[in-house]
Amino acid sequence: MLALLSSGCDRRESGEPQIRPSILLVTFDTLRADHLGAYGYPEPVSPHFDALAERGVLYERAIAASSRTAPSHATIMTSRYVRDHSIRHHNGATRLGDGTTLARILSAQGYATAAFVSNAVLQRRIGLDAGFEVFDDELPDREYNRRVYERHARGTTDRAVGWLYAAKRPFFLWVHYNDPHGPYTPPRAYWRFSGVAPAGIEADGEPLPVLDRQRGWRGIPSYQVLGSLRLARQYRALYAGEIRYLDDGLGRLLEGVEAAAGAEQLVILLTADHGESLGEGGFFFSHGHATTPELCRVPLLVVAPGLDAGRSSALVHHVDILPTLLDLVGVDAPAEAAGLALARPWRAGTPLPDRVVFADIGAEVAAYSEDRFHRARLVGDLGSMPEGSRASYRWKVDGTWSEAPPDPVIAERLETYIERETPENWAPEPGEEDQERLRALGYLEPTGDAPAPDAH
Ligand SMILES: [Zn+2]
Repeated sequence: MLALLSSGCDRRESGEPQIRPSILLVTFDTLRADHLGAYGYPEPVSPHFDALAERGVLYERAIAASSRTAPSHATIMTSRYVRDHSIRHHNGATRLGDGTTLARILSAQGYATAAFVSNAVLQRRIGLDAGFEVFDDELPDREYNRRVYERHARGTTDRAVGWLYAAKRPFFLWVHYNDPHGPYTPPRAYWRFSGVAPAGIEADGEPLPVLDRQRGWRGIPSYQVLGSLRLARQYRALYAGEIRYLDDGLGRLLEGVEAAAGAEQLVILLTADHGESLGEGGFFFSHGHATTPELCRVPLLVVAPGLDAGRSSALVHHVDILPTLLDLVGVDAPAEAAGLALARPWRAGTPLPDRVVFADIGAEVAAYSEDRFHRARLVGDLGSMPEGSRASYRWKVDGTWSEAPPDPVIAERLETYIERETPENWAPEPGEEDQERLRALGYLEPTGDAPAPDAH
């Protein structure tokens, strides 16, 4: 089928123009892989995701480019590592440059393109709207008890499905859901989970202190505090509830997209921009502060016509998303893409080449292999990691990790990566209203006057 699509001869012979498959890309904000049923979560938080996973390739070792929203999304859209794109590690202060993006490539191939995002960090000022005919970044919702601007799954799904009614084919639709991002306030009907602790978390039944800062080191960060709730288990239960709520939106989206594209003419890729600390290393309900597996191991699911379903334990990364999607619709990836087209080795039954992939928040960088990671703390102290230090770990497919002797090859690859420097492309400073929204989402310290939107 792909050979047919890329051959002009076949098109002329058949007398009818072949259209390429449409593409649905879904990115979930702040969604740990281990909080989906398909990845082993013990409660029914993700029936729609899990049903789709039965039809596709589920990657068990997928690593995010960053534990921050904007850098990870920039990598997804460009197949460049964080040090190689102009957003770098910043979360709202920099813009994507004029280079190649997934949407630009598909738009040039005649795709109708639309994006629906739900987090203030992804608003058009950071340049991810490049190549999209429709870029819907309206954020009409506020959490019921605080000034948090975002868009809940229901609203984002309504908009995306509405666009599909009139969309021409083929289309490229990117939908970003923000619900698992704190504060964890799903609708009441979703308060029904028990808040089981992730693998590797010791007993944590003591009440947590409330912190006056956004980072959750040994306590509840200020933007996450919910009334009188002080137990980790209560917050984890509500985080699970957000995922269940989001999954209902996903189910409705999939129905709409499959009806619009035709199931045989649709490529679907689902992932998350990063995970969330739920107590690991003493950090609670926050992300963006490190590059460890609870923050950087993400779900990755690919569903495409003719692609056999199954699970892959190969090491994959956000950089692989652009080449994978383009390959599945018969379009060449640009030479500068850093990732691999994953469907080819899956179909051929061949292993991926041995490689090291990178997770990067600027202040900290990690290089991952299939079972090891090596971490460099470049700026500021973090728990037991002083500035300038290096540490090595073993990690398992369930996301748990422990200290290990350094692997010299991975360590050396990390040092080489750290040397790489693409200049940041600074965006205009956020206006008053944007600053308020970023603060409400925990991206600015509550008392900070300076516009430093990547504080979180
Ligand atoms: Zn995010």
